[in-house]
Amino acid sequence: MKWEENVRRVIPYTPGEQPKKAGVIKLNTNENPYPPAPGVAKASAVLDAGKFRLYPEFSEQTELAKALAARYHIGTDQLFIGVGSDDVLSMAFLTFFHSDRPVFFPDITYSFYDVWADVYGIPYERKALDADFQICMADYCQPNGGVIFPNPNAPTGVLMPLDKVEEIVAANRDVVVIVDEAYIDFGGTSALPLIDKYDNLLVVQTFSKSRSMAGMRIGYAMGQPALIRYLNDVKYSVNSYTMNMAALELGVSAVRDEAYFGACCRRIIETRERAEEELAKRGFVFPKSYANFIFASHQAIPAQEIFERLKENDIYVRWWDKERINNYLRITIGTDEQMEALYRALDEICG
Ligand code: PMP
Repeated sequence: MKWEENVRRVIPYTPGEQPKKAGVIKLNTNENPYPPAPGVAKASAVLDAGKFRLYPEFSEQTELAKALAARYHIGTDQLFIGVGSDDVLSMAFLTFFHSDRPVFFPDITYSFYDVWADVYGIPYERKALDADFQICMADYCQPNGGVIFPNPNAPTGVLMPLDKVEEIVAANRDVVVIVDEAYIDFGGTSALPLIDKYDNLLVVQTFSKSRSMAGMRIGYAMGQPALIRYLNDVKYSVNSYTMNMAALELGVSAVRDEAYFGACCRRIIETRERAEEELAKRGFVFPKSYANFIFASHQAIPAQEIFERLKENDIYVRWWDKERINNYLRITIGTDEQMEALYRALDEICG
């Protein structure tokens, strides 16, 4: 077919499986096992569907923008809101990575980065993490077209201390450095305080993990006003009304309930610490995790085999058939009850 010659061909990102079957224990997509803050359900019950005939407000002028700005002690002009952090990151790639030089990111990282780079025609280089899954600082001190990395990293859960993050931002003043903090609330230290000092730093966070709202699709970026203006110019050149009214309204209730947020994150951290002990007892090794998942390898049994056997038991974890990581499982932290079921299944498989 002749028209196919003009098609933009891409290999899309593959999200984790969303099984339809009831009763499955889903530890494969880093969702939060707890519901969103109680205020979210209350606000959702009184949503006025009559308002849906109108276009939503521009997100930077909404109550959600004001609530986030107040929560993070920044101006609304330092905040960009998008449809999950995937939308925010995608817009950031399109806006800031516009150079002939390659964008740098780790070889083991969020597997959407190379997909965006490919679809937007951005050159890139993957920089190999060391044997402990740590970033090698020297790799990021060479000329480049921009830098992006998650902190904590995904899928490893490894946290880079803030002074190292700052070293990378400081070494790259001529390009934009994006720190993807999707998992920062589970024990990491955010790079947010550095945005006042560095006009080239963009910090991206999400409601999908620590605020239990993956289905609502809310993400945001924080940086100096000039960065945010450029990001908005590109966003408003693609699609003005990205955020739907329901997400804009319900997000506010999540941001305002600081006590619930803190308690929920602490609970996941406690379950993770317990999971580290339980997995170690069963012969797994893993880097210390600062996220809501553990990236674990068994000393005797191949990851693929454990992955398949867990699935037969209706327990879903994530496994990638990729170089360097194909003997690892990424196990999302579930409720204590779900984790107990996992340990029982592992006793059968690894025992
Ligand atoms: N960054 C990282 C590192 C992630 O693991 C994810 C989750 N898949 C995202 C960003 C995107 O999450 P969301 O679009 O749900 O905010």
